[in-house]
Amino acid sequence: PRSGFCKSNYFFYSKRRPTSLPPNKSLDITTFISSRAHHVKTAYIDAATGRHLTYSELWRDVDSVAASLSNMGIRKGHVILIISPNSIYFPVVCHAVMSVGAIITTSNPLNTNREIAKQIDDYKPVLAFTTQQLVHKLTGTTNLSIVLLDEDINAAALMTEGNIVTTLVEMMRRDSSGGRVRDRVDQEDTATLLYSSGTTGPSKGVMLSHKNLIAMTQSIIQSHFAEGKKTYICTVPMFHVYGMGVFVTALLGVGTTIVILSKFGIHDLCSAVEKYRATNLPVVPPILVAMVKDADQIRAKHDLSSLQSVLSGGAPLSKELIEGFLEKYPSVIIRQGYALTESTSGASTVTVEESRRYGTAEVPTIMKGYFNNEDATKSTLDGEGWLKTGDLCYIDDDGFVFVVDRLKELIKYKAYQVPPAELEALLLTHPAISDAAVIPFPDKDVGQYPMAYVVRKAGSDLSETAIMDFVERQVAPYKKIRRVAFIGLIPKTTSGKILRKDLIKLATSKI
Ligand code: AMP
Repeated sequence: PRSGFCKSNYFFYSKRRPTSLPPNKSLDITTFISSRAHHVKTAYIDAATGRHLTYSELWRDVDSVAASLSNMGIRKGHVILIISPNSIYFPVVCHAVMSVGAIITTSNPLNTNREIAKQIDDYKPVLAFTTQQLVHKLTGTTNLSIVLLDEDINAAALMTEGNIVTTLVEMMRRDSSGGRVRDRVDQEDTATLLYSSGTTGPSKGVMLSHKNLIAMTQSIIQSHFAEGKKTYICTVPMFHVYGMGVFVTALLGVGTTIVILSKFGIHDLCSAVEKYRATNLPVVPPILVAMVKDADQIRAKHDLSSLQSVLSGGAPLSKELIEGFLEKYPSVIIRQGYALTESTSGASTVTVEESRRYGTAEVPTIMKGYFNNEDATKSTLDGEGWLKTGDLCYIDDDGFVFVVDRLKELIKYKAYQVPPAELEALLLTHPAISDAAVIPFPDKDVGQYPMAYVVRKAGSDLSETAIMDFVERQVAPYKKIRRVAFIGLIPKTTSGKILRKDLIKLATSKI
């Protein structure tokens, strides 16, 4: 059955129409989106500078950068890294890379040199796009050419430094008419490599295909969830699947205008809504927390009357927060999306009356697998291609999905992924620590933060603060351990798996 909600043999079919994929097997996401004519409409606006790109300018710049990439020898299958805050050039780079069949991978700009070096070691990118402010994060990397994204810099002077080869402005200036080598790109080819720890272990590169991105874009177009005449605010990071899926791909297919904030600040965000008469605001729950907390001040300072809808995704949204938000902003509809990096999107949304419900759309958006990691792929995708989400959910009689609990190891701090296995491995490198386990500690403002249970070596008087400092020096700020407790023995199964649920119970019983 393909219409209506039906449960049979434990299969749940979406009420939505199935997404129809373009029949042409040889199609990349950029060609698919750019063939939908929006021309003179504004695609992106930089909230801070007011600089904007129309759709035609966007695709012109994408073509120029793609031609430059070809001239530089970038071919299908090459991996290209981007480390940058949100900007109007982020999508230009992503589409230029994907349109030549190369693979775009991202890193959180907050990551440390050590964390970025680990990613680089995993997927061996040949080229990186970054900013002058962040280029130091690539110090010491060899065989990696670097392109700077900043506008007002003297490329010639900088090219003597490290591996910097050019600037994006230079690449966009070059003639796009010649020199572009186009390898055949198939829908099945990998388009993006985004990082996620999945159900267990450290972060891994999630391979999403052009088909995944096309299917997600197509499902948004077909569901009429978004309309071209709306103006969206982009404050969620484009390096994460949320920003990449919504703001770099799907909304361009719909033809909306997107106002980009390079960093989050509640008043900058509200100023942007006011100035650009924004209608839609996709966010993560901690932003809603800030909007509710500062509601009186926000409403006194800003005219948010244009705002029609807020979408929350990336982490659970509590009933209290929904109610608090609706009380402060009664004319705004609040919707929720549930998704994983591994599912590209898979999310659909619900209306205000159903704000505690989560709907899923039927789209073939499941990842191809983890990059160079067959074991993790096999344990996450079953033989028939079903994805194990690691979340405990149920589906009600109307077909809404409720996310009840997270069974996988993952901690989500302000919707950022914090893989406990990475922090545990780091703690074990400390000479005075003999064992450690990291668990999520619930917090109403940030969702969860990492807490460590530590077994000290005999005779050690290592303090909680010393442990937190040791970790803080080596990880991105969102991964910091913010609570430590000492324990005689980490509870484990006979096969050596940490019994995290026992530790979570122990930690939270003391709240
Ligand atoms: P990520 O791959 O970073 O997007 O993280 C995906 C995970 O975030 C999911 O498996 C869930 O555990 C959690 N998540 C995302 N959206 C929601 C939501 N609306 N409600 C509850 N958990 C969510």
